[in-house]
Amino acid sequence: MSKRRSIKPMFSLSPVLFRNSDIAGRGVFARRRFEPGEVVVPYAPRQRRVPAGSAEASTASHTKLTLLSGDQVIIPDTAVPGGWLCNHSCEPNATLYASGEGRIQCLRPISPGEEVTIFYGWVSENEPHRDPCHCGSPRCRGFINFDVTDGDAAHVEIIDGPQAVMDDVVRARFEEYGVFLRSIGQEQVEEAIIQTLARMKGRSAVR
Ligand SMILES: [Zn+2]
Repeated sequence: MSKRRSIKPMFSLSPVLFRNSDIAGRGVFARRRFEPGEVVVPYAPRQRRVPAGSAEASTASHTKLTLLSGDQVIIPDTAVPGGWLCNHSCEPNATLYASGEGRIQCLRPISPGEEVTIFYGWVSENEPHRDPCHCGSPRCRGFINFDVTDGDAAHVEIIDGPQAVMDDVVRARFEEYGVFLRSIGQEQVEEAIIQTLARMKGRSAVR
């Protein structure tokens, strides 16, 4: 509009800072306050996209940094910092959305200086102690991953939906985790657990 408005500031502060974290490695830190729903940082400012199911997508998935976005897989260029550096917390203040280019969005108010954390929602198979958690939250569960064992799968039936029907032997543990997930707004992880169980059941069926 006016000429004055078109003049660029001499420098602009990025809304986040990437630096070493007490949780693990480098983390993402807020430089200003964020309100719920605001985009905090793009997942990967520089990225490549490859078709889901391609050999390249499969190889890149070992980094645990790839995101499934529609029928494509986003592979971050790790030379450029971004939301892919967010650490996990058992009480996250942000959420990762994989749609489009991928973004980290504020879940509850974040203060300047606070580390921006997301919930990884990793589901492991027969590796209960795979990913120790150091998030420091009073609600920390000790591990990032929720583990599903062959023993669990034996007590579960998968029906159309898919839905998992479980007997009393394992129900309490899964229900407790479901209540926890809903309390931090991460109920989508239940879907990942059911998918994992379905895959394990399918695998055992063909044995
Ligand atoms: Zn934790």
